[in-house]
Amino acid sequence: MKLKRAKAYKKLLHQYELNFGFREPYQVLLDSEILEDAYKFKIDLVSRLQKVLGGPVKPMITTCDMRHLYAAKPKNETLILQAKEYERRRCNHQDLEEPLSTLECLGEVVDPKGNGTNKNRYIVASNDRRVRAHMRGIAGVPLFYISKSVVLMEPMASASEQQREREEKSKFKMGLKGQRKPDQVQKRKRDEEEEEEDPEDQSIADGASEAQPAKKKRAKGPKEPNPLSMRKAKKDKPAAESKATKKAKSTDANDARPSTTDEASTPVEGSGRKRKRKPKSKGDGDAVPVVDDAGSP
Ligand SMILES: [Zn+2]
Repeated sequence: MKLKRAKAYKKLLHQYELNFGFREPYQVLLDSEILEDAYKFKIDLVSRLQKVLGGPVKPMITTCDMRHLYAAKPKNETLILQAKEYERRRCNHQDLEEPLSTLECLGEVVDPKGNGTNKNRYIVASNDRRVRAHMRGIAGVPLFYISKSVVLMEPMASASEQQREREEKSKFKMGLKGQRKPDQVQKRKRDEEEEEEDPEDQSIADGASEAQPAKKKRAKGPKEPNPLSMRKAKKDKPAAESKATKKAKSTDANDARPSTTDEASTPVEGSGRKRKRKPKSKGDGDAVPVVDDAGSP
């Protein structure tokens, strides 16, 4: 299960990267509630997110959520110290007497213009259902939450999905670079065949294993060219070999190369070549009896 989920998340993240421009380090806005839950479940949230995302994470917390931590009862000093190490995302609400709710604050931080775009490419990790529901309405917001001590990623929301499809269509129209097209086509296929994701993954991941059989075939190949040299040797030897090298015949017939190294056979071969060339120039008929002669002794 874990492996399947990791694969699915990797794929999902890749879609966010391709279609919404997400890059490492991933900026993750952590709300006070998920931090409290992570503390409760003794989860190292940032390292868990790093693992899930497969890259460096820049944890961030808004001023409002930081204030929520300070205002919590009972106050969790450990959690406050931990959150202080995260990058503070100033949200223009710090001058307010009371911090805004996470929903209001994060809504503004992620989509400052209110036009449904995640301009700064934030990932939102929130255990507030209303926050996540709001974020689903903004295109391209990867969402994380903790459930039963497990860090989970939400599937791409329909707003993001629609935006993604729109962009893909426009990219196709514009005539994208050749590299991206196959990627996107593959993704579409994957999306359509979500149930069959795993076999596809394996086939892609097993690229190395696919290459191996090819190598094996190549390895078998080199053995075949040798027979070609054998043919030449056979033609050479029978004509070339004199009575003196009868013993060498058996070895020469099996393998052409040793004959060239043999001291005895080298001069004979030389003469053989000369003989051969002459019959060839005259005609093919002369070459046949030569072979017959060699076969008889
Ligand atoms: Zn705020």
